[in-house]
Amino acid sequence: MGERLEILGVGIDKVNSQQALEKIGAFIASGQPHQIVTANAEIIYQASKNEKMRHVINNAQMVTADGSGVVWASHQLGEPLKQRVTGIDLVNSICEQSAKDKWKIYILGSAPGVAAAAAVNIRNKFPGCNIVGTHHGYFNAKEEKQILAELEQLKPDVLFVALGAPKQEYWIAGHLAELGIPVGMGIGGSMDVLSGNVKRAPKWMQKMSLEWLYRLLIQPTRFKRVLALPKFMLAVKKQAKQK
Ligand code: UDP
Repeated sequence: MGERLEILGVGIDKVNSQQALEKIGAFIASGQPHQIVTANAEIIYQASKNEKMRHVINNAQMVTADGSGVVWASHQLGEPLKQRVTGIDLVNSICEQSAKDKWKIYILGSAPGVAAAAAVNIRNKFPGCNIVGTHHGYFNAKEEKQILAELEQLKPDVLFVALGAPKQEYWIAGHLAELGIPVGMGIGGSMDVLSGNVKRAPKWMQKMSLEWLYRLLIQPTRFKRVLALPKFMLAVKKQAKQK
């Protein structure tokens, strides 16, 4: 499985974007189920307090450093990661590769219409990207059965799941093996961005690393989540001292 860096009890793979994509290619070629988690600071902090979540993430076949907070932590711990590998970057590179290798992709999650709109945008961006189906993420038990049946029939190579963390990670861990899908990956709010539903911050704010502030201003309910970052930083500092 390769070497992992442990941050607050969560193992992070030391892979860059290129290596992550190569691994994904190997996962698909193997035909065996593999779970991918893109772990940001908030997810790692949450997992450090939640044994079930930690267990699911640490059992995934690839866990990437989603965001500069995680790269910062790797420096604090004396094992610097070279770059972040975010969910949106991986979604883009998988879709680009799908246009070449015809990997079949299914997108599950987000509000009704969002995954379908994202699929249209993705196909425009990467002509030939092989998205075989989409379904929204607000399903009941009966609809879930229909989704599972559709997945068994379509046999995608890659399943993107946007139900928010850790719900999407639990869903993948619970269903991937029975479905026999080679790659299952939680993608959080990436579909909202790809569908154009959620706008990214203006360029000047991105440049000043103020994207978090922009998201906070347009979605004030994120306030509690933003607070996880200083808590994560304090906990990492404490782990670094204990080394
Ligand atoms: N979502 C969903 N079903 C649910 C809960 C959430 O489809 O039962 C979707 C929601 O519409 C959003 C995505 O999950 O598109 C990610 O939600 P959030 O922004 O909370 O997650 P994050 O990006 O922070 O992981």
